[in-house]
Amino acid sequence: MNLVVKIEDISDDEEFVFDLSEKPDCFDIDPEEGVLKQDVRVQGSLSKVGREFFLKGSVSSEIELTCSRCLEPLIYPIRAKLESHYIPGPDGKAGELDTDLELHASDIEVEYYTDDRIDLTQAVYDQMILSLPLVRLCQEECKGICSHCGGNRNQKDCQCSEEGEIDPRMAVLRSLKDKLK
Ligand SMILES: [Zn+2]
Ligand SMILES: [Zn+2]
Repeated sequence: MNLVVKIEDISDDEEFVFDLSEKPDCFDIDPEEGVLKQDVRVQGSLSKVGREFFLKGSVSSEIELTCSRCLEPLIYPIRAKLESHYIPGPDGKAGELDTDLELHASDIEVEYYTDDRIDLTQAVYDQMILSLPLVRLCQEECKGICSHCGGNRNQKDCQCSEEGEIDPRMAVLRSLKDKLK
């Protein structure tokens, strides 16, 4: 629980500047999605307006993802922006708001805080997941896996396609793909 700021530490007229780190296993990320390889560093500031707090900052770490084409692991640097608005939770309830309550809040994420502490963990988690690319490539020109022999075509240049033995169904898919480009 390193990503927790006590509100008594935040003064009324000055930004509270912080630089915090948290261990990878504090974030419940589905291993199919990726595996954090580095502590998660969170830098930023909290400013106080009445009983509400505005967070601005950045998240950085490193995550191991799987290449969408060749299925080999790749290391992806996480660099995400963090922006949240914390309001006191009713009945000591912490966490995210119901969506209908969130309407007034423009684009900024609104979350409850409780027990005089602001827990940044959820906001950090959300931004890390959102920052991950949909298409993950180990290299721009990843050649992927040969649909014929199953070999990784980055490691071994198999001769399959040059023999002209392309499965006709694959050929149809390929020409469709080319049209979509
Ligand atoms: Zn690849
Ligand atoms: Zn092949």
